[in-house]
Amino acid sequence: SKRAGRGVVRIFDESMDEGIRFRRRIEGGLSQALERDELTLSYQPIVSRDTLEVVGFEALVRWETPDYGSVSPAMFIPIAEESNTIHELGDWVLAAALAQVRTWPGQYVSVNFSPRQFRRPNFVGHIVQAVQHAGVEPSRLQIEITETAIFDDADRAADTLYRLRQMGFRIALDDFGTGYSSLYNIRKFALDSLKIDRSFIDGMGRERESAAIVHSIIHLGRALGLGIIAEGVETEAQVQALRIAGASHLQGFFFSSPIDAGTAQAMADRRFIG
Ligand code: C2E
Ligand code: CA
Ligand code: CA
Ligand code: CA
Repeated sequence: SKRAGRGVVRIFDESMDEGIRFRRRIEGGLSQALERDELTLSYQPIVSRDTLEVVGFEALVRWETPDYGSVSPAMFIPIAEESNTIHELGDWVLAAALAQVRTWPGQYVSVNFSPRQFRRPNFVGHIVQAVQHAGVEPSRLQIEITETAIFDDADRAADTLYRLRQMGFRIALDDFGTGYSSLYNIRKFALDSLKIDRSFIDGMGRERESAAIVHSIIHLGRALGLGIIAEGVETEAQVQALRIAGASHLQGFFFSSPIDAGTAQAMADRRFIG
């Protein structure tokens, strides 16, 4: 009926307003979050396929807000990414991650950089300055970027990655398989590893297509001399399938969820999970 229809519209409008209000609070709160010490990093181990030794940790940012509790980076990174707030946040993340990697015996820390961060003028200079300031070798930092970051201005991106890799930084292409790129057009980029997106790992046991995609990424990636990190590994069956398929590294809840810095420190010293 007409009345019910109006009701639906009104409820919809109100939830839109609520969404916009939430968004504005996030935008405003983010810049204060840094000053108030509300951000932390969690660390998720990355293990080698052959020995299951912990070779590195991915740093994942967390935000504990007074009003909304723990807000997911999947929620606030895209908002930060729309303004220069992402730079302030990213600088904090990088400095915190590098301070941590210094205390580990040999593992690297893998840090996510959004497209806007990667395209920042003098991105290379920022990274170099950060590792020098922290007193950390470039090989202890893995830079995770997505296909979106490199394809919009491919020539410039290729140059940036080449310079970073020459200096010894590790470069991983994150969420691989979800964008428009193919293994054919990534060959001009100086990469160390591909991270196969978790959606394909998730589908492996259920859909023939996902399993086929995972196998072909691993096969061709290795032919190009790239390491292959499988993310979002949750089950023993996935571990077995990925080991047989030849992924070089594994990461996911099966091994460990992201953990706090102290727990990561202890794991780094032991060199193994558990
Ligand atoms: P991502 O880079 O793809 O990170 C992997 C996400 O998958 C993380 O979510 C991680 O907690 C989650 N994950 C890990 N293992 C498993 C698993 O076995 N199963 C499932 N279902 N999930 C798993 P998180 O921490 O919520 O981060 C979400 C996204 O936010 C990240 O996706 C990344 O794109 C972004 N992000 C996180 N930290 C940062 C940061 O410091 N800077 C930037 N620019 N982006 C960040
Ligand atoms: Ca990542
Ligand atoms: Ca990913
Ligand atoms: Ca992702």
